[in-house]
Amino acid sequence: MPRYDFDMFTIGAGSGGVASSRRAGSYGARVGICEESRVGGTCVIRGCVPKKLLVYGAQFADAFADSVGFGWEPQTPKFDWRKLIANKDAEIDRLNGIYKKLLADSGVALFESHGRLVDPHTVEVGGKRYTAETILIATGAHPVVPDLPGIEHAVTSNEALELDELPRRIVIVGGGYIAVEFAGIFATLGSEVTIIIRGDDLLRGFDDDIRVALALEMRARGITIRPRCQVTRIERRGAGLAVATTSGEEIAADRIMYATGRRPNTRNLGLAEAGVLLDGKGAVAVDEWSRSSVANIYAVGDVTDRLNLTPVAIAEGRALAETLFNGNPMTVDHATVPTAVFSQPPVGTVGLTERAARERYGAVDVYRTRFKPMKNILAGREERTMMKLVVDRKSDRVLGCHMVGADAPEIIQGLAIALKCGATKTQFDRTIGIHPSAAEEFVTMREKLPEPAAVASG
Ligand code: NDP
Repeated sequence: MPRYDFDMFTIGAGSGGVASSRRAGSYGARVGICEESRVGGTCVIRGCVPKKLLVYGAQFADAFADSVGFGWEPQTPKFDWRKLIANKDAEIDRLNGIYKKLLADSGVALFESHGRLVDPHTVEVGGKRYTAETILIATGAHPVVPDLPGIEHAVTSNEALELDELPRRIVIVGGGYIAVEFAGIFATLGSEVTIIIRGDDLLRGFDDDIRVALALEMRARGITIRPRCQVTRIERRGAGLAVATTSGEEIAADRIMYATGRRPNTRNLGLAEAGVLLDGKGAVAVDEWSRSSVANIYAVGDVTDRLNLTPVAIAEGRALAETLFNGNPMTVDHATVPTAVFSQPPVGTVGLTERAARERYGAVDVYRTRFKPMKNILAGREERTMMKLVVDRKSDRVLGCHMVGADAPEIIQGLAIALKCGATKTQFDRTIGIHPSAAEEFVTMREKLPEPAAVASG
């Protein structure tokens, strides 16, 4: 008789939990997993996937407009928001079913209910108790909104993906991934969008040239960005809302959305009772092996607040299964992880920002180009693409690649392999470009930017 009901019990069937459980199951481990919401987690149910479907939906507006310069005479296209939402929902249902089937095919027992630790080896789920040698916490995170008068009128990304109507005017608070992605969706579909950010620029932590280039293009698309501004009060006015800000103005809107960050889901899980320690930000504190303060309890994904990206959660989950159930100890390298923001235009980035590279390496060379992509010429679209390389002067290694422009996520993925392999600028230069493409600019940039000091002294 095995000592425990399961070899591993996972709380949370999102990207990290499912990936880990399936991999463990494939090695013959007896795995249970519970989920209180829908199998698939944030990414599949209320994040990356539905968001990207809406991005695709919005991009047709650009395609219709651009097609005229290429000889098309489109009928005035009509857009049906409800149809897009219904089709998106159907696709999420399909993916939810696939996820469940994948779990079943891997022999993982699914419990569709809230799970809670009773002690380090026991989970209570749906009124029953199950024991497991290993426990994996993969409960993700949830949106947080500040407390202010009228905040009950605000929606988060969860509800923004489900609105029954496309808002004519929307205020979006925050300047991170989610805020700029939704601003792009709504603005491209024709909503009047105002973004309110408390800092100077969007996308804190990204390379400054990305931040500048993206804000420029978003403004060119008619999005209003209010920097150094905070909402003080939200009031219902008839069918709409009045949003009062620290700059003294009142913005009229039909909707207000908050995208002011996310917090790990660590409540009501019995973590304290089991002795699992949280870090200062309320995330499960883990070591490089994703092990918590309790030896048999692990955590992966957003609940650990390391790098909150789906592919990272999946990598952490699989590394854990390799380590525990395949005799293949594995950790995840959180450095040089590429990331994309599906804004309009999108952002792709990998490696160090110029600022971080200068701090860490001292002397760096910077190459940057800004150009109107070929397609935009006949389209009559002014939008420009920005690309940038940051190179360590001493070793010639490329430390960072940054891009704002069409297809940036697709282009940066390949460059991430080069950076992971330690590619040098000379190797980039020796690579033949694909012509005509935007991506070829990454292997044809020759002119270094002048040193910032030289620019400052004129
Ligand atoms: P982020 O942490 O990226 O951004 C939060 C934004 O809200 C920042 O601009 C922040 O300002 C601002 N903010 C925070 N608190 C307040 C406040 N009280 N009042 C006003 N503004 C405030 O969070 P998101 O919610 O956009 O996204 C969460 C995470 O999800 C991301 O960091 C990312 O890891 C992940 N994600 C990834 C995506 C992708 O890969 N494409 C897509 C969506 C999400 P400040 O900069 O001043 O702190």
